[in-house]
Amino acid sequence: MIPFLDLNEVNAPYLTAIEEASLRVLRSGWYILGNELKQFEKAFAAYCGADHCIGVANGLDAITLILKAFDFPEGSEVIVPANTYIASVLPVSFLNLVPVLVEPDPVTMLLDPGRIEEKITEKTRAIISVDLYGRSCEMDPITKLAEKHNLKVITDAAQAHGAMYQNRKVGSIADATAFSFYPTKNLGALGDAGAVTTCDEQLAEKIRCLRNYGSVVRYQNDYQGINSRLDELQAAILHVKLPFLDPENKRRRQIAARYLSGIEVRNLTLPPADRPMEDVWHLFVVRHPKKAELISYLDSKNIQTNVHYPLPIHKQQAYQHLHGLDLPVTEQIHREVVSLPLNPVLTDEDVDYIIHTLNQFDDHL
Ligand SMILES: *Cc1c(COP(=O)(O)O)cnc(C)c1O
Repeated sequence: MIPFLDLNEVNAPYLTAIEEASLRVLRSGWYILGNELKQFEKAFAAYCGADHCIGVANGLDAITLILKAFDFPEGSEVIVPANTYIASVLPVSFLNLVPVLVEPDPVTMLLDPGRIEEKITEKTRAIISVDLYGRSCEMDPITKLAEKHNLKVITDAAQAHGAMYQNRKVGSIADATAFSFYPTKNLGALGDAGAVTTCDEQLAEKIRCLRNYGSVVRYQNDYQGINSRLDELQAAILHVKLPFLDPENKRRRQIAARYLSGIEVRNLTLPPADRPMEDVWHLFVVRHPKKAELISYLDSKNIQTNVHYPLPIHKQQAYQHLHGLDLPVTEQIHREVVSLPLNPVLTDEDVDYIIHTLNQFDDHL
């Protein structure tokens, strides 16, 4: 079986370095808010071209803390893409803000800048752009709209570590960017972890404070904060893996290029081609009207696939009040998407086998 993702293989090249780093943390006797975190924050901020990085417990908290720091009045509206993972939207709801779902561009499947303005009201305070599948959103039109309507731009880059938009790294473009280092992400910890990057010093200070009970000076609480800290062990492990993010992303781009030039299946829609050196291909998402048949065919040929995502947010039980929304582009995407294996440990032989097998799908229909 070619697995969709084998984390054991993904982390194997770093085993010795991770062991050393882990032992160093173990022997230091200091496990929370220490030097390992400071070093990783500095390195990751520099990597993103951002002035500040604040390590937090996970990607969900990263978005939550950014929104909390902006302190919008209850009932404020936040523009979010309808086609995303639910974690992009939950923080809006947690803070008693109102998520306003916007349809994606049918080609990129990302937030469609042309469909944002019609959703902006006097209550709108922010836009959350989600760099889904490892591809940056079209940030120029989004930034322009935000300036025009005085909105904050927050990017959910949980799937896009290292991605570029017009020569700028994701993490340095929006007012604040949220990252997840969940083990399956392009930069993955060995547990839960996340970060916020920003060039806004005041915002950075506030988020730093909010992640630690709203406290900078011990036992003195300036805000009603939460406990969302990136621990020393995960920070040390992430620091070991960070220098290999670019080479791994490069390998992802090579595989995507092979898929894009090699796959030819009737009625199968490939993702749009890589703009040079921009996308980091967290996922390679194809579309086919006979999705179930495609998945079981590949499974019968020992190729494991995945679906990101099977059910849109506005159809989830958790969002019953949104069930009436009419979002046909989003719904069609969810009916058709299949994610092929794409990760840095796939061999050229695996990739050729996947292409060859896919190209015979039509004969099996
Ligand atoms: C993984 C992910 C998150 C959440 O990250 P966690 O670390 O699991 O909380 C948020 N948004 C997107 C798009 C993701 O893929």
